[in-house]
Amino acid sequence: MTISDATPQQASIGVVGLAVMGSNLARNLARHGNTVAVFNRSPEKTRSLIEQHGGEGTFLPSERIEDFVASLERPRTAIVMVQAGAGTDAVIEQLAEHFEEGDIIVDGGNADFRDTIRRERDLARKGLNFVGTGISGGEEGALNGPSIMPGGSAQAYEKLGPILESIAAQAEGEPCVVHLGTDGAGHFVKMVHNGIEYADMQLIAEAYDLLRKVSGLEPPAIADVVEQWNEGDLESFLIEITAEVLRHTDAETGKPFVDVVLDAAGQKGTGTWTVQNALSLGIPVGGIAEAVFARAVSSLPGQRAAVTAAAGERPSPVAAPDGFADDVRAALYASKVVAYAQGFDLLVAGAKEFDWDLDLGAVAKIWRAGCIIRARFLDRIVEAYARDPQLPSLLADPYFADAVAKGAAAWRRVVSTAALSAVPAPGFSAALAYYDSLTSERLPAALIQGQRDFFGAHTYKRVDKDGIFHTLWSADRSEELREGGSGH
Ligand code: NAP
Repeated sequence: MTISDATPQQASIGVVGLAVMGSNLARNLARHGNTVAVFNRSPEKTRSLIEQHGGEGTFLPSERIEDFVASLERPRTAIVMVQAGAGTDAVIEQLAEHFEEGDIIVDGGNADFRDTIRRERDLARKGLNFVGTGISGGEEGALNGPSIMPGGSAQAYEKLGPILESIAAQAEGEPCVVHLGTDGAGHFVKMVHNGIEYADMQLIAEAYDLLRKVSGLEPPAIADVVEQWNEGDLESFLIEITAEVLRHTDAETGKPFVDVVLDAAGQKGTGTWTVQNALSLGIPVGGIAEAVFARAVSSLPGQRAAVTAAAGERPSPVAAPDGFADDVRAALYASKVVAYAQGFDLLVAGAKEFDWDLDLGAVAKIWRAGCIIRARFLDRIVEAYARDPQLPSLLADPYFADAVAKGAAAWRRVVSTAALSAVPAPGFSAALAYYDSLTSERLPAALIQGQRDFFGAHTYKRVDKDGIFHTLWSADRSEELREGGSGH
């Protein structure tokens, strides 16, 4: 069907996909005075949104895509909130059939940023704007103010920006949304956000495990400790909800909730993407990777049981050193700084590889509210990038360098106590090893270069003169200058 020009065009924004995220986002948009066109493949979801929440603002519901398109003012702007992958491609294709030059398709799902780059390129050929945008904050955030991470063209952002600003979370009076860069920049930033989220959660979980197994505290007592942490520089959404989860009692058994939940952590893949891309870009993100692997280990019940049976007796936890809870707090903070430092390194590398003009301070700013990793700590990161936008690592910023150095002794006590007590702390350990690697004057990489030269003639550089060298390992072990050098 063609769309009649006589059709009233009233909605400034449309939402396609009215499952939990899409319907909450549509309600948020409507509550902020936007007229919102809504459409879902199965009309029941559209009807139920209007029945239950139609009074919250102005919605223009459609049961056919043609009517949805006709209800949008030009340039038509539609946010797609459907299942990532094939579902998103299907909806984009449908919209592209009906949209005209200059119209804007926004993908608010958790897309792979490479898909976003591809989709933007394909739609640009048809004269359509495509904006891949990360949206964080879960269902609650979508309804009450998420952190929004849009990419796409600056032209599309002119129309879209004010609409997104109207619904984003606010941090110190500023909306948590900023145009991050072209094509896949938004989804890349959202991916790294989720990678950091994995690390943040794993580190908190390790802190809990140590307080439980080494200090012998029960979940409600740990909730008290965590609540105290939330008064200081660890203040964050994840710390806040941790205290709530630890305090929760299972109604059926009367046991702590954490004791009745199966200890196998799920994942939807964005943590894995973060690590895969870090590997491709050569950026060490061990803290994030260990968090992803820890979920994987937890989800291998057969292997856990078999190795446990074969391992025999395990050491009992050692006595908790004095002030152990404070040590754990310090270890958590330092490891968290490492996770963020690694995440921001990945942002820098991604921006360089994909040619995005990413403002790291702005990224930290829009993560201060609305999203899952929102934290007081983000203010410190904003300040660090204000001091030096070219900071080589967050760990090189004077504030963070000092904070980590002050906590380092406690961090080492925690990692060694965990190892002696057979309590796994892969996040704390990997973060400490990374910090120690960066701060070591010499690394054993020199030996690796020797091994590589031995078996593969991969050559090496020397500390005392220029050039590329190879030792004749299977002959007289004399050294050859293979390339360059000063001729001495
Ligand atoms: P979802 O369960 O991921 O997807 C369900 C929605 O997708 C339904 O509206 C469904 O329509 C639609 N859909 C699936 N395949 C389709 C197709 N081939 N054609 C048309 N529509 C199709 O929904 P969600 O949890 O609300 O998430 C939406 C997006 O937001 C996802 O990309 C998700 O990754 C992202 N996200 C979710 C969260 C969260 O906390 N849930 C947080 C951030 C981002 P029908 O009703 O017709 O089946």
